Amino acid sequence: MRIGGQEVTSPRRQPVCLPYDGTEVAAVFQATREHVDAAVSSARAAALEMREMTLDERSTILRKAAGKTAERREELALAVSSECGKPIKEARVEVDRAAQTLLFSSEEAHRLRGEVVPMDASPGGKGRWAMTIREPLGVIAAITPFNFPLNLAMHKIGPALAAGNAVVHKPASTTPISAVMMAALFEECGLPPGALNVITGPGGEIGDLLVFHRDIAMITFTGSAEVGLRIRNLAAMKRVTLELGNNSAVIVDEDADLDEAVPRCVAGSFAHSGQVCISVQRIFVHDQIRDLFLERFVDGARKLRIGHPHDSETDISSLITEREAERVESWVAEAVDQGARLVAGGARRRATLEPAILADVPPSARIACREAFGPVVGVNGYQTLAEAIERVNSSDYGLQAGIYTRDIRKAFLAARRIHVGGFMINDVPQYRVDQMPYGGVKMSGHGREGPKYAVEEMTETKLVCWKV
Ligand code: NAP
Repeated sequence: MRIGGQEVTSPRRQPVCLPYDGTEVAAVFQATREHVDAAVSSARAAALEMREMTLDERSTILRKAAGKTAERREELALAVSSECGKPIKEARVEVDRAAQTLLFSSEEAHRLRGEVVPMDASPGGKGRWAMTIREPLGVIAAITPFNFPLNLAMHKIGPALAAGNAVVHKPASTTPISAVMMAALFEECGLPPGALNVITGPGGEIGDLLVFHRDIAMITFTGSAEVGLRIRNLAAMKRVTLELGNNSAVIVDEDADLDEAVPRCVAGSFAHSGQVCISVQRIFVHDQIRDLFLERFVDGARKLRIGHPHDSETDISSLITEREAERVESWVAEAVDQGARLVAGGARRRATLEPAILADVPPSARIACREAFGPVVGVNGYQTLAEAIERVNSSDYGLQAGIYTRDIRKAFLAARRIHVGGFMINDVPQYRVDQMPYGGVKMSGHGREGPKYAVEEMTETKLVCWKV
C-alpha cells in the first residue's frame, strides 16, 4: 500500500500468485478501515494542493510520468504479466498504451477551459457577462479490475490528476503490484505525496468503505456489472462512472474481406485468453460464407501458441484463476448440451483453457447471452442483415460491436441501428486506442473514458457572472 507518499504495512498479508502455475510472485498488505481513512484524508489534503497547481505544472508531472513509464517498460511489463498472467508481448503493449494514456492526459491538462456564456441572448441577461470555469471535484476513488491492471488504472489516474483532483486507487486483489509501482513512479515525477494513494485488499470490504466515505466526491469504477450496479445503488449523491462488461458481437457479411476479418477475429477473440471487456464473443456470419469463415477461423485459432506468460512466443497463457477456467469450461459444456457444436478447443489444464470455438449456439446458452470473459466464441449463421442486427442487439450489454462489409450502406445502417457505445466498421469490437471516447450503454455502464472525456466527468462547471 502507499498512503501519503509512504509505503504502509498492515498485519494482514496476501500473496500474489502467477495465475499460470500458482507460483507466488509477491505479497501485499490488506487495508483496514483505518488505512482507508488515512488514504482519504491524505488525498483530501493533497487535493487542495492539486487544485492550486497551474495547468502546466500538472501537465509536466503527467508528461514526466509518461516518459518514466516508457523507460521502465520491461520492469512494468514483467509485473503486469506476473500478476495477471497476460502473455509478456501483450503486457509490453499495455505498458506502451499506459504511457500514451498519460501523455494524452498531460495534453488535456493544457486544454482545460470553460466558455463565455452569451447572457444577453435572453432579455433578463442584458448588461451581464458570464463565463464558466471547470473545477476539480476533490478526492476520486478509482476502483480497477484485474485484466488491464496498468492501463485501465492510468485511464482514471491520468485524467483525475490533469483535472486537479487527488486519487485513492483500489486495484483488484489479484493484481496490485503495478499499482503500487506507479504510485512511487508518480512521486518521482513531482506529484505531491498523498495526491495518489494505493490501498490493497478485498473489494467487498474496502469497496464499501470507499463508496460510503463522506470525503469522496466521485467513484470511477471498471469491473463487472454486478459490482458496478451495487456501487451505483449505494453511491447516493456521489458522481459515478461505470465501465462494465460486454458480450461483444461482430457481423461478417457476405461481401466481407475474409483475409482481413479472420485474423482480426482470431486476435479479437483470444487475446489475453478472452479476458478483455470488448473481447469478441459472438460472431454472426452470412450463411453464404459461414463454412469458409469457420474453417479459416479454426485454422487461425489452432496456430496460437499456448505457454508460460513470460515466454515471448506465447499467445495464450491462462485465465486469472483455475476457478474462472472451470466456470468457462462449464459454460462451453452447457452450450453443447443445449445443441451447440464444439468445433475446436475447449480442453483445460489448471487455469489454462484452449481457445474454444462453438457453432450454432442457441440464444439461451450463457455463452450467447452473458459475458464469458474467457477464450470462447460462438459462430452463428444469418440470412439477412436485419436478422443479424437484431441478434447483436438482443444483449443486455452495449459496449462495442462491429461489422465487416464492403457495402457502405450496410455498414452505416448497422452503425445507426446497433445500440452500443462504439461501433467499428471493418474491424472487430475489440479495437481501442486510448484517446477515443470509450464506454457503454445498457448494462455496459455509463460515462466515457479516454482522457478528454474522463476529464469532463472529473470536473464540475462553475458559472461566474458579473453585472457590467
Ligand atoms: P470485479 O470482480 O467487478 O472487480 C473489479 C474491482 O472491483 C476490483 O478491484 C474488486 O476488488 C472491486 N470490488 C469487488 N467487490 C466490490 C464491492 N462490493 N465494492 C467495490 N469494489 C469492489 O471485476 P474483475 O473480475 O476484476 O474484472 C472483470 C470485469 O471487468 C469484466 O466484467 C469486464 O468486462 C470488466 N471490464 C470492463 C472494462 C470496460 O472498460 N468496460 C474494462 C475491463 C474490464 P477485488 O479484486 O478485491 O475483489
